[in-house]
Amino acid sequence: MTNLVQLKRPAHSVAVAAEPDEETRTVVMNFLEGRRTLSRDELRDNDITRYQVTKFYQEQIRKSGYFEQLKHIVEPSLQEFQSPGRLDTSGEGDNTVVPGLQHKYKQTGLLLVTDRCASYCRYCFRKRIVGKTSDEIAPDYWEVAEYIRAHPEMNNVLLSGGDPFVLSTEKLHRIMDHLLPIPHLTSIRFGTKTIAFYPPRFADPELPGLFERILKAGKTPLIVTHFDHIGEISEEAENNIKKLRGVGVQFLNQSVLLGKVNDDPKILADTFQKCHSIGTQPYYLFQGRPVKGASHFQVPLRRGVEIVREVNQRLAGIQKTFKYIMSHYTGKIEILDLGDDNRLYLRYHQCKHVEKIGKMFSRPYREGAYWLDDLTDDTQVVHRPEYISAVAS
Ligand code: SF4
Repeated sequence: MTNLVQLKRPAHSVAVAAEPDEETRTVVMNFLEGRRTLSRDELRDNDITRYQVTKFYQEQIRKSGYFEQLKHIVEPSLQEFQSPGRLDTSGEGDNTVVPGLQHKYKQTGLLLVTDRCASYCRYCFRKRIVGKTSDEIAPDYWEVAEYIRAHPEMNNVLLSGGDPFVLSTEKLHRIMDHLLPIPHLTSIRFGTKTIAFYPPRFADPELPGLFERILKAGKTPLIVTHFDHIGEISEEAENNIKKLRGVGVQFLNQSVLLGKVNDDPKILADTFQKCHSIGTQPYYLFQGRPVKGASHFQVPLRRGVEIVREVNQRLAGIQKTFKYIMSHYTGKIEILDLGDDNRLYLRYHQCKHVEKIGKMFSRPYREGAYWLDDLTDDTQVVHRPEYISAVAS
């Protein structure tokens, strides 16, 4: 519980730029473009994510030397009012099987355990949930466990939200009470950006006991860190990752390709090299999603492919363990290349329809496309040999 309380204390967190005026129902908020007074209705109608940044992260991004890039992660912009898109781009609502549990891919359960984070990312694809009181958070873990028990094909669960590490270690134990007795679950994964926003959370002396308990139950504990930029990787984060690796936790890292933040091959290659060296293996680089209020972060697919090519040219084989992924309504799609024939080549990495997994397909590329839906489906399905000859020709 200690760390949750710490996260709420001004000494550790919450540089709140919003000053609410109860009488006028207005809020004064600092945007990158300047200070504005807005009505609460305007904020709500535009789904503007609340502003909250830990003091730790503010200091980290200032001393990193990358403030001009990293400020875009947490500082609000007026562009949020003009960015078109949807609030649920990957069909999370459609894949919710019991409140708080999504079952989109056969082997994986996605559990929303909280609607809170240590700080709020302006590009978050769960803007509809984070920093609000959401009814998408699991209210009943007994019901969740019943569903998982009835689905032996599900072998792993990802705890997400929000960020599971804003919950107390005690609360995480109570969730484990429900999950660990399920025999067919072989791994328990935690997705977190608290390791960037407030790494002292991972120095909690009670935390190793949680992971030891998971290991004793015969499951693999994994933490998926979320570093988008080398400037976010603090010494404290590095030390805590090393310590938890020592008790048997496996670490992977996922990043989002973000305009103005990390759409630079050198930055991304440096980030992945650093992740590799501290023991959190680069895993996914996500194409930014067309999220309402956050689509201004998206990078065109042509530029994304060029960046990924150059990142790979800069990395040793053991460091290029990431896939460039579009988390689409239809599944997780690996973005492979833009061919000389001006077609974008893709492959399903995960899909609800398992027969599609591993199959390559392509779309004629259109300049300025950011997402699969921006490309016309001319229904050409291409398998590997044809792809190779198409690219070679
Ligand atoms: S920490 Fe994760 S869930 Fe929270 S706002 Fe950032 S991206 Fe969204």
